[in-house]
Order: sequence, then C-alpha cells, then structure tokens
Amino acid sequence: MRYALVSDIHANLAAFKAVLEDLEAKGGFDEIWCLGDIVGYGPEPHACIELLLSQNYICVAGNHDWAAIGKIDTLDFNPDAARACQWTAQQLGVGDMDWLRGLPLQLERADFTLVHGSPREPIWEYLLSAVDARDNFACFDTKFCLVGHSHVPLVFRRDKAGQCILGRLSDKVNVASDSDRLIINPGGVGQPRDGDPRASYAVYDSSAQTIYHYRVDYDIAVTQSRMMECQLPLSLILRLSYGY
Ligand code: ZN
Repeated sequence: MRYALVSDIHANLAAFKAVLEDLEAKGGFDEIWCLGDIVGYGPEPHACIELLLSQNYICVAGNHDWAAIGKIDTLDFNPDAARACQWTAQQLGVGDMDWLRGLPLQLERADFTLVHGSPREPIWEYLLSAVDARDNFACFDTKFCLVGHSHVPLVFRRDKAGQCILGRLSDKVNVASDSDRLIINPGGVGQPRDGDPRASYAVYDSSAQTIYHYRVDYDIAVTQSRMMECQLPLSLILRLSYGY
C-alpha cells in the first residue's frame, strides 16, 4: 500500500493540486494521511477541504483548523495569522465547519500515530529539537509517529539505547529497522518554511518499508494573486516566494 503523507495545506489549492498530480505521476496512492492545518493563511479554504474530501483520506486537526471555527482563540497567533484566520472563518460553509469540528486530534494507522504538532501536545507543540522529540517518544504507543505544524521536513530517530538524533528528511528513509523508532515530518504543502518554496510531501510504501520525500513545483504566482484579491496580509503572500 502507498500512503500519501501531507501536512499544512493551508488553503493553498495550487500547491495541493500539484502534489496530487505529482502523486498520480509517481504511480498513485491508496490513502492520504493528512496531518492538519488544511485551512488558514491561504486563499482557498473551502476548495481545499472539498478536494481532500474527494480523495480517500484520513485527517487530524491542526491549530489553524480549530482557530477557524473558534474552537481555540487566536491570541497566540501573530497579527497577520489572526487576520487570515478571521478571513478564513468567513469563507467556510456550515458543512466545512462541521467537518473541521469533527476532526480528531490523533489517529493510529498500522505502525503510525498521526498528530499535527506533537504526540504530547497535538495542537500547539513545534517539534524542532532532539531534546523535545526524546520526551515525545514516551507519548505514543506505535513504532512511528507523523507530525506537521513546523512546515519543516525532519526525521527524529530514537535508537535502542534511547539516543535521539535529529536530521533533515532525506529522499528515502528505510523504516524496516527492528529497534529504531521514528518521528517524521513530511514538510508543508501550502507554506514550506525550510527555505525551499516548493511544496513538500512524502509517500510511505508499506511493502518497501520506505518513506520517500518529494518536492514539487507549483504556480506560486497563482496563489499569491488570489491572496491579493482576497486582501490577505502581504507578509503571508511574500513568504511563499521564499519558502519561509
Ligand atoms: Zn501550519
């Protein structure tokens, strides 16, 4: 089976479509595992929800998904993110809101736990250091965990001795080891933050016991001009060009 690992679509329809097209070109997939933040920041929240719902998918909630429906407040958001969140809330239909409200915080599939931020703190925690990851390995029962939220493609590896190492997610990660446990972030689809503006996603091939990491070009200018039309904050428009 082939599972598409996507996170942080952030209402960027052009990026999400490019990822789906790239997946088809690479032989398709059986199921999408979406790690949250479908909406927020970008110009097409409803269309991105609709496109995800048209696929075979499972999905957990992200902080922007909850903020858009008022399930958490935006006091902890920076002013531009909060403004985009208010705009997003106005674009959502009743069906979109019900769907977002129903998203679980955590899911388990095969050897994987899926959360948005971290297994310890699914909505808010950014997993960016080996020290934080080490504590989080105690917070899930499966061998592997998939996270999003930081929009940075990373892999945390915990070996038999309990050592935890952090690395960038390479093109190909073998997960067949008997002893090593992993926390993997496939990067962001709709707002990458590792200096590479291309959409980031991964595929888990269960028969090959391998996770493949991919970057795909999309028409950034299309998303940016939609954002201009919607009068979304300029900083959010510009950052897409830099992948930050
Ligand atoms: Zn996000």
